[in-house]
Amino acid sequence: MANIASVLLKPGEADRIIAGHPWIYKSSIVRLTQPVADGNVVHVKDDRQRWLGTGFYNSRSKIAVRMISPEPDTPNEAFFTQRIQTALALRKRLLPSATSFRVVNAESDFLSGLIVDKYEDVLVLQISSLGMDRCKPDIIRALQALFQPRALVERSDVASRKFEGLPEANGLLAGEVTGPLAIRLNQIQFDVDVLGGHKTGLYLDQQVNYQAVAQFAKGAQVLDCFSFLGGFGLHAAKAGAAHVHMLDQSEEVVAASLRNAQANGLASQCSAEAANVFDWLKAQTKVGPHEKLVPKFDLIVLDPPSFTRNRASVPDALRGYKEIHLRALKLLKPGGLLATFCCSHHVSTELFQDVILAAAFDARKVLRRVALYSQSPDHPVIPCIPETEYLKGFALELAR
Ligand code: SAH
Repeated sequence: MANIASVLLKPGEADRIIAGHPWIYKSSIVRLTQPVADGNVVHVKDDRQRWLGTGFYNSRSKIAVRMISPEPDTPNEAFFTQRIQTALALRKRLLPSATSFRVVNAESDFLSGLIVDKYEDVLVLQISSLGMDRCKPDIIRALQALFQPRALVERSDVASRKFEGLPEANGLLAGEVTGPLAIRLNQIQFDVDVLGGHKTGLYLDQQVNYQAVAQFAKGAQVLDCFSFLGGFGLHAAKAGAAHVHMLDQSEEVVAASLRNAQANGLASQCSAEAANVFDWLKAQTKVGPHEKLVPKFDLIVLDPPSFTRNRASVPDALRGYKEIHLRALKLLKPGGLLATFCCSHHVSTELFQDVILAAAFDARKVLRRVALYSQSPDHPVIPCIPETEYLKGFALELAR
């Protein structure tokens, strides 16, 4: 190990690493024992040279070291095989009947910089750190041996790669994919574009919430806002909703959600419209001088994209969240349910609930919270790595 450089941390900086957080900021480092090339493995020690673990070094990133192990490990094919097997075993335990799910969720699986999603027999890989990028051949070999996938696709088209000095990378790594993939979530088929769709193709983090929310849909008039491929809407229709109206600003995904409805035999219960949700809700809640708004919906789903890019954008985001909740509450029948989600790491559960309560106050409504939601268990949360927790949601009944 003599040829591996050590990174020595400042006093007080070791605790979060010992607690399990994998990031070491440049500002936490005192010095390196020898020069090291970006992307290489380093050994990490505290201010008294006590061992802390192994990580990837990158001087170009604010996160100068990403820990990969508390041991003196070598990130080779055997290392990745073992880590991915462990991650897969957790998914099999927590989502035993799922056939499409996130196999590796970066920090949640002690593999900072690596995401692997399984869409039936196709794997999609996303790499966002230089050290992990260097290991791509070993990662691919490990995945091929463990899964024998029909195809392996790379979707490393994330903006964060530029902070690591990496260009975006997108495309087929092995096998073949022609056209959309038909995948199944909870017995519902979705046609997914793994080469060009959102994220790696689908919002797998909502898999368990689709079913949890759908249990409220029987006989209901449902509005699915920010519907994408129809995740919530189609689950609600399958669960016996009287009608589901889906709204998304993208014409393309609206068309795809209707094709998905058709493919599942749910077309007669579903409609979809390309619209800006803010404008649509505004138009629907507009009343003339002597008119009274008649609420139409028994269940409204709000699952917007993250309105925050960083901490500075939180106030604007909160105004956005408040507005859609205020308007959605006006469209909800008494006793109806609002299922609402926030995927911004910068907005805490408490803050999100406060915004909803402020909207309810303005609308002179009282809400009863009937369920709390989080991300699906294939996106596990490690509490001492707060960045692993981002999705929160509530089911709120319009009690008064
Ligand atoms: N509920 C979806 C995921 C939603 S992701 C699911 O479970 O799969 C957010 C979606 O909102 C994207 O499809 C995006 O096209 C859409 N979107 C973003 N801003 C919008 C707006 N202002 N009005 C309508 N749709 C919007």
